[in-house]
Amino acid sequence: MAQVSLKDVCKIYPGGVMAVNKINLGIENKEFMVLVGPSGCGKSTTLRMIAGLEEVSEGQIYIGNRVVNDVPAKDRDIAMVFQNYALYPHMTVFENMSFGLRLRRYPKPEISSRVMEAANILGIKKLLDRRPKQLSGGERQRVAVGRAIVRKPMVFLFDEPLSNLDAKLRVQTRTEIHKLHMRLQTTMIYVTHDQTEAMTMGDRIAVMKDGNLLQVADPITIYDYPANKFVASFIGSPAMNFMYGRIIKKEGKLYFDEGKILVRLVEQMSGKMAQYAGKEVIFGIRPEDIYDKLFTTSAIPENIINATCEVIEPMGSEVYLYLNTGRHIFVARVGAHDRPPINKDMDLVFDMSKVHFFEKDTEVTIL
Ligand code: ADP
Repeated sequence: MAQVSLKDVCKIYPGGVMAVNKINLGIENKEFMVLVGPSGCGKSTTLRMIAGLEEVSEGQIYIGNRVVNDVPAKDRDIAMVFQNYALYPHMTVFENMSFGLRLRRYPKPEISSRVMEAANILGIKKLLDRRPKQLSGGERQRVAVGRAIVRKPMVFLFDEPLSNLDAKLRVQTRTEIHKLHMRLQTTMIYVTHDQTEAMTMGDRIAVMKDGNLLQVADPITIYDYPANKFVASFIGSPAMNFMYGRIIKKEGKLYFDEGKILVRLVEQMSGKMAQYAGKEVIFGIRPEDIYDKLFTTSAIPENIINATCEVIEPMGSEVYLYLNTGRHIFVARVGAHDRPPINKDMDLVFDMSKVHFFEKDTEVTIL
């Protein structure tokens, strides 16, 4: 059992690429931490530095109370599951799973009992005599996880372990890894570019971009209170809608004025927004906070936006509407029965109590 912490950790690759820029992150004992961000943001590099597969350029990495910067990977008491599983093709599943223990000269009975225990947990007992090429993608993935489990490490590291699985298996394996975490009660650090995986699996999520850590919080906090426009747009699907405009004050009330669209702010936001009167800001609204006026009773005249619906995407239990306001395309997520006529004028209603505002220059949240 261990906590992991990164203090001012940087990685500069030869050639000067700053892949990780002064990251500070504490992962608690038994926590499931997800590092998420677009490709190239430095997630894998961060994980590989924790694993000891990549040198740390600056800063310290702690596992437990010990600085591990100079500790070789094999002595860090961690196990890593890779994206491509990295199984040995000439070895059986049993041999693959037991390889690390054999290297460490564990007694044979101990090796057998650990492999059987892991195979039991993962439901792969029947596969122990097969070789990797005789396994499906999902089965290989389990073996790779099994190989990590048998070591009983203090920390598990996962580098995009589901990305080679088809969509259905990915969802299934996602819940299995979640259950595994509850069962093993071990610290896990999980890298993914998939915001759905991050939201559904993480106790906490660390969002990265361009080598920087932008926000660390539990999934609901990240979703409801994104620290900046990037986090707001990256987490949530379909993504948050944005528009640029100005805060104005009319007869003591605050409005967001986009030029064509004018909406009144709710009273609760006036405290923080008053100082932005006259200034440009970025307005954000999630698809589920936009309604078709015909399907809501809470419309007030100062909060109705004219648009045309260009595309309807039925998702089964809900529908995505692509709405053109003349200057923006907004996506709304509405009930399955809401099918407005295509390319005809319609009225939208924004739930103004749910909207977000970001500073125009820094893109940092205002609320
Ligand atoms: P992610 O896992 O988020 O996709 P990576 O950590 O793999 O991102 O990469 C972060 C940045 O470092 C990228 O710009 C990538 O091109 C660069 N990078 C990764 N590995 C190396 C390397 N061995 N040498 C030089 N640059 C690298």
